Amino acid sequence: MQKNNNSNKIWDVVIVGGGASGMMAGVVASSRGLSVLLLDKNKQLGEKLKITGGGRCNITNNEPDIHKLLAVYGEGAPFLYTPFSVFGVKDTFDFFEKRGLPLVVQARNRVFPQTENAIDVFNVLHKDLLKNNVSIKNNCIVKSLSLESGKIKKVETNIGDFYGKSFVLATGGLSHPETGSTGDGYRFLKDLGHTVVEPSPDVVPISVKEDWVKNLAGVSLSFMKISFFLNNKKQFSKTGKILFTHFGLSGPLILNSSKKIKELLLLGEVKALIDIFPDTDIGDLEKRLIKIFDANKNKTLKNTLKEILPEGLSESFYSILNFIDLDIKINNIKKEDRRRIVDIMKAMPLTVDGIMGYDRSVVVDGGVVLKEINMKTMSSKFVENLFVTGDLLHLNRNSGGYSLQICWTTGYIAGISA
Ligand SMILES: Cc1cc2nc3c(=O)[nH]c(=O)nc-3n(C[C@H](O)[C@H](O)[C@H](O)COP(=O)(O)OP(=O)(O)OC[C@H]3O[C@@H](n4cnc5c(N)ncnc54)[C@H](O)[C@@H]3O)c2cc1C
Repeated sequence: MQKNNNSNKIWDVVIVGGGASGMMAGVVASSRGLSVLLLDKNKQLGEKLKITGGGRCNITNNEPDIHKLLAVYGEGAPFLYTPFSVFGVKDTFDFFEKRGLPLVVQARNRVFPQTENAIDVFNVLHKDLLKNNVSIKNNCIVKSLSLESGKIKKVETNIGDFYGKSFVLATGGLSHPETGSTGDGYRFLKDLGHTVVEPSPDVVPISVKEDWVKNLAGVSLSFMKISFFLNNKKQFSKTGKILFTHFGLSGPLILNSSKKIKELLLLGEVKALIDIFPDTDIGDLEKRLIKIFDANKNKTLKNTLKEILPEGLSESFYSILNFIDLDIKINNIKKEDRRRIVDIMKAMPLTVDGIMGYDRSVVVDGGVVLKEINMKTMSSKFVENLFVTGDLLHLNRNSGGYSLQICWTTGYIAGISA
């Protein structure tokens, strides 16, 4: 374990947490010539950053319309105009590309490093921290921030106390706690008198009751429609890609619906119907099936359905067809049974059990309320030399690069203000 060899030194800036936003704050503050100390409880910095976007790092979102971009953050939008005008999406492009990491825009305006490797994003930040002589202490667990005359004076850690003029709190939220974000920052902020909205998992997969879904683990359907019902009343539908998992459903469409689903679950039973042919109406789908049946009169139902069902889905689909013998010859299928098969293709039923936990959530719904933060500087309105960044802020958003953009924006602003 590292020792605190600078026990009496007063750093210009002490940063607690070396994730995306803390590293950004460190790079920016140190480039101003300030002495910067970065403390992180993990063996290495940026553990969450390294797993973002499935290891590809969806670094930001290139939505060109600022109003549309900000709308993603819901109630947080009005608070973000100023921060985004200081460091917005274009600045993210400039920042990384000037440091030798070209970015590319992919579907739905999602932006990735051209190398599609999150480690490269980490390396850009880490290299600058080292170049600017930021002092990094890993395996350093900050236990508390100590306040004197309305200002933070020092942080207390497992390896001793560290003194500073300014402090950046960048300890992240609670998603994937194995990456180091274990909610410590929420406690620190509460202790300082801040209002912290109770966290709950967000942008998170859902679990379902039906085994047929679980048997599809690993299969993804790139184009289907899912409709959600509360107590049998339709609430909303989405069309896109769904990923089946061993506990239920995931993929961007589900992740970005999880907040609504979570709210519905508080009100009653939530069911869903999956339409595997969203661009074909029921009449046309039946005509398509009749054509296939006509060409396969002497084959079994099981062998014939394979011709129309999306790859990987057949076995699970059969398990729902419990009203008919799968070995029946096509010739012998009654019209009403054929119609029932079509109905199921348009509405595969499932029951939502709940949402998954922090260990699978991308973000957390919770954090310090924005009206207690000066968004021009990211400083606390209660403690003038404390700056708060990244996932610690109460900001709702979808997946798509919007979270990391918040980290770059707030980390940058804290870095120029601290
Ligand atoms: C699986 C997954 C994939 C994601 N993919 C994307 C994506 O592609 N695009 C996107 O925009 N967003 C993505 N996100 C969200 C994004 O990763 C986060 O918004 C972002 O990493 C948050 O950064 P942060 O700086 O706030 O905190 P974190 O990255 O969580 O870092 C906090 C740091 O603080 C340290 N720390 C915590 N407590 C202490 C303490 N007491 N003492 C010392 N150190 C402490 C931790 O060790 C950690 O290093 C993803 C999230 C997950 C979980």
